Amino acid sequence: LPLNFRKDELKGGIPKDRLTIGASLADVDPMQIDCSVRFDGVGGLSDHISALKEMVVFPLLYPEVFERFKIQPPRGCLFYGPPGTGKTLVARALANECSQGERRIAFFMRKGANCLSKWAGESERQLRLLFDQAYQMRPSIIFFDEIDGLAPVRSSEQDQIHSSIVSTLLALMDGLDSRGEIVVIGATNRLDSIDPALRRPGRFDREFLFSLPDKEARKEIFKIHTRDWTPKPSDMFLEELAEKCVGYCGADIKSLCAEAALCALRRRYPQLYKSSEKLQLDVASIKITAKDFVMAMQKTVPASQRAVASPGRALSSVSKPLLENTLARILQALQRVFPHAE
Ligand code: ATP
Repeated sequence: LPLNFRKDELKGGIPKDRLTIGASLADVDPMQIDCSVRFDGVGGLSDHISALKEMVVFPLLYPEVFERFKIQPPRGCLFYGPPGTGKTLVARALANECSQGERRIAFFMRKGANCLSKWAGESERQLRLLFDQAYQMRPSIIFFDEIDGLAPVRSSEQDQIHSSIVSTLLALMDGLDSRGEIVVIGATNRLDSIDPALRRPGRFDREFLFSLPDKEARKEIFKIHTRDWTPKPSDMFLEELAEKCVGYCGADIKSLCAEAALCALRRRYPQLYKSSEKLQLDVASIKITAKDFVMAMQKTVPASQRAVASPGRALSSVSKPLLENTLARILQALQRVFPHAE
């Protein structure tokens, strides 16, 4: 079933064999969708969003325009970038935007690894059924999250299973042009681990890089995650925060906001931690201030900096007299080049 349809909304119902497949493979159940996410809940990615609308939504909604000017709409696109930068979020928002209006686009969402099965040939059959169902309910979008699990680079030492899945996917995507009205989107953290054959034009035509947000984007994401707070943090304060949070991804910013709220709670009601009973709280009296954000920032390490151990350490007592001056000069030069970095 597509994510944005209910069972009773399907006209013909689902064929029986598909129902049993869904029931027998517990993991086939698609990711739960959060229906509240819309494009306005995605910060700093407006270029990607308008490109997606142009490439994915318009050809499905207004095929006559593309027909008229003989434009070939893309068959697939690939989202890639570091974790927590909003790839899944954009796909969810796209699904919700597609559920509006008269002409609805069916949106199928699969985690790459969930399409795998222990039975030989079963994954390929699942894929074929998925594309078939998507075709029956066209126009539709198929979204594969973590596609590197499904279609890794085929190599000689690797087992046969993956290479057969990859070739099935290639064949299915090649078959799309005669069928039309289906767009495939893949998301991955590791672009280099996807089979190169999938990345040629005609399959995943366009690639969208979701990089770590810059200062403006960070400010927008802060705004989104604090928009329901009362009182809202001031614009100037958010600007200052965005300047400080270099290297934070969208998910880091979200968790920073949550942590700041917890800090404020801790400050206002320290007795919560001692009492074992539920206390009556005056929620309106919890005010989140700059102090809470400073505390929260001390506690969080951005995801991009967790993976690599920092190579920096203090000079040893032997090398200190030798290198001290040079180091100071280097730091000064760096400070001039990157004034925002600490
Ligand atoms: P992964 O590659 O690990 O799957 P991802 O890129 O798919 O990561 P998401 O699941 O989209 O990351 O993001 C995690 C959370 O971070 C989202 O639920 C959202 O709340 C927040 N987030 C990330 N980017 C943004 C953004 N640009 N605007 C608003 N919120 C964001």
